[in-house]
Amino acid sequence: MSRTRVLVLNSGSSSVKYQLLDMRGSDRLAMGLVERIGEETSRLRHTPTGGLSREWSGSVPDHDAALKAVAAELAKDGLGLDSPELAAIGHRVVHGGKHFTEPTVVDDAVLAEIERLIPVAPLHNPANLTGIRTAQALRPDLPQVAVFDTAFHTTMPESAARYAIDVETADAHRVRRYGFHGTSHAYVSRETARLLGRAPEDVNVIVLHLGNGASASAVRGGRCVDTSMGLTPLEGLVMGTRSGDMDPAVIFHLMRVGGMSADEIDTLLNKRSGLIGLCGDNDMREIRRRVDAGDERARLAFDIYIHRLKKYIGAYYAVLGRVDAVAFTAGVGENAAPVREAAVAGLEGLGLVVDAGLNAVRADRARLISPADARVAVAVVPTDEEMEIATQTYALVEKER
Ligand code: AMP
Repeated sequence: MSRTRVLVLNSGSSSVKYQLLDMRGSDRLAMGLVERIGEETSRLRHTPTGGLSREWSGSVPDHDAALKAVAAELAKDGLGLDSPELAAIGHRVVHGGKHFTEPTVVDDAVLAEIERLIPVAPLHNPANLTGIRTAQALRPDLPQVAVFDTAFHTTMPESAARYAIDVETADAHRVRRYGFHGTSHAYVSRETARLLGRAPEDVNVIVLHLGNGASASAVRGGRCVDTSMGLTPLEGLVMGTRSGDMDPAVIFHLMRVGGMSADEIDTLLNKRSGLIGLCGDNDMREIRRRVDAGDERARLAFDIYIHRLKKYIGAYYAVLGRVDAVAFTAGVGENAAPVREAAVAGLEGLGLVVDAGLNAVRADRARLISPADARVAVAVVPTDEEMEIATQTYALVEKER
């Protein structure tokens, strides 16, 4: 029996998202989500490909119980995790620091390093570790592969990765720019090259990953040379609930003059800022509806969001020198035509133009929205982080087999 299946796990502090894929034809066999782990009212939603979704509500006390519930659902579709066809389990790990530049088969040393990175990713790495340990207990015979959100960005030169602060202090506390959403930036930049019918090595792309979290990256010949998120995902673009860039002295001001604690400011900047802080909504659909109805606060929030996006397009154009394509992806990038139109408006001088008719088309495939004769291609490329994690996981276990 050929071992071609990969289970992808994305473990959060109280949730597990999963997909089972068969890498023979890159087919998705099933996907689902366990939410509110540790509460009385946990919920599991499971969707086998081509079948109806099943929902289940009850108590899932911990990640071990969650994974067992997932295994039970998969078994009902004849896709049980005891299958000899399962080749590996691929785990999304948010922070790999400087050390992890590639997908890595997990052993004790790898677990220890992911644990050592907890101070720079206190919300994510503990949950990712729990997911790996739980999967190891379930299938100790299988390779567990960690795929890091930061890995794609480890090719950034020091000039982009270092903050201009005292070097000894920065190094003592591992303060540098790591970047996130790397799996998406890697996948989308490659798919953009494919859409242009060119090799990734020959193409320079600005990738705009605009979801609830948002980041931009400058990719030269398939390698990341700059990205907008930094030590944590707080830096860069205006996001659903995060501020993105601002003068760091705002924090001292809020402490000294506003009497706020470090934790309060952390919550303010990560959870109560960005679009939701500016206008009370973080869903771009609702913001557009309000803009169209003449709502001034929503209009200002939209304008600030676009202004920042445009600044990053310009900055990365300068970083790359030559740009072949700008690719929009994730929830907002894939769906919000007004955002794409506004982000590129006025950039004709840079060769960036959006065709209104093409931009208005709704589709879930990668497509160009610039005119055929445009100097720079503008593309919409749906991201697929789970497929990318599965592809990287499978390539690694095949190589080591
Ligand atoms: P993600 O984090 O990639 O799942 O993106 C989630 C965000 O995408 C939501 O918060 C919305 O702001 C946005 N979004 C999803 N669908 C649409 C849509 N049809 N139009 C505009 N924005 C959308």
